[in-house]
Amino acid sequence: MKIICDEKICVKCLACVTESEFGGVFFERGRIFFDETRPEDWENIFAICPVGAIKKSVTEVTDNVSKFSD
Ligand code: SF4
Repeated sequence: MKIICDEKICVKCLACVTESEFGGVFFERGRIFFDETRPEDWENIFAICPVGAIKKSVTEVTDNVSKFSD
């Protein structure tokens, strides 16, 4: 699992950093970083973000859903 912070919507409130217990989330050079190898309660960290900026990065989201309307 890869975790990303959407920089465009993150308000740098640092709630995620505070919530992280094992150094899995840290703030450096004005950005939020994640260390997915740490045993954090990730679901809790995703939930704590007030703007929903923390996301699990999904590999290759291809838009191959075809819509047939008539
Ligand atoms: S909790 Fe969300 S908005 Fe706050 S610093 Fe973390 S990623 Fe940014």
